[in-house]
Amino acid sequence: MKSLFEKKCKCKGRKLAFIDPVSKIKIFAGGWTKGIIVNKGELAISLLNEPYCGFNVAGITPKYMVPTDCIMIDWPDYYEPNLTKLDWHNLVNEIRHQKKNVVIYCAGGHGRTGTSLAILAYIMGVTKSNSIEWVRKNYCLEAVESRAQVDYINYVLETEFESKTDFSIDISTQQGSDEDFNFLRQIN
Ligand SMILES: [Zn+2]
Repeated sequence: MKSLFEKKCKCKGRKLAFIDPVSKIKIFAGGWTKGIIVNKGELAISLLNEPYCGFNVAGITPKYMVPTDCIMIDWPDYYEPNLTKLDWHNLVNEIRHQKKNVVIYCAGGHGRTGTSLAILAYIMGVTKSNSIEWVRKNYCLEAVESRAQVDYINYVLETEFESKTDFSIDISTQQGSDEDFNFLRQIN
């Protein structure tokens, strides 16, 4: 069965994206259409604004409520969240403070998840070079899905990284969401 979100990549379940060199916390990532699972005691970071993950066999709705803490970030597909540079540094501090392994996910595990990994890997000091290319090489070639997301990474990191790879999706026909964003809403 093929999901609407499925593309060329072979991502399945969750991938270890990197280990924070400071805290040694493991950062796992993926998408619920790829069957990502969050284990008890892990810190979930949902980029879907809902605390669900896992793949429903119908292919439409997420299946599992995460059995743990969840930080939810409202983030429209193919676009960027309403988070500043300071918000991302606060998120890194929160991750290091909680000392739990982290599981970051969106729907397909590429655009929103890839963008967040590019930002976190750079702030946490995993890479000092082009973190967009870094995340594509170390996580998935389809990570970071739009020009808007490249621009957002450069805005947050105050960098001028270029995307050497084509975007997997043409977003010229996609509509963004006009909703006000409730971001970094922490639930237990
Ligand atoms: Zn992938």
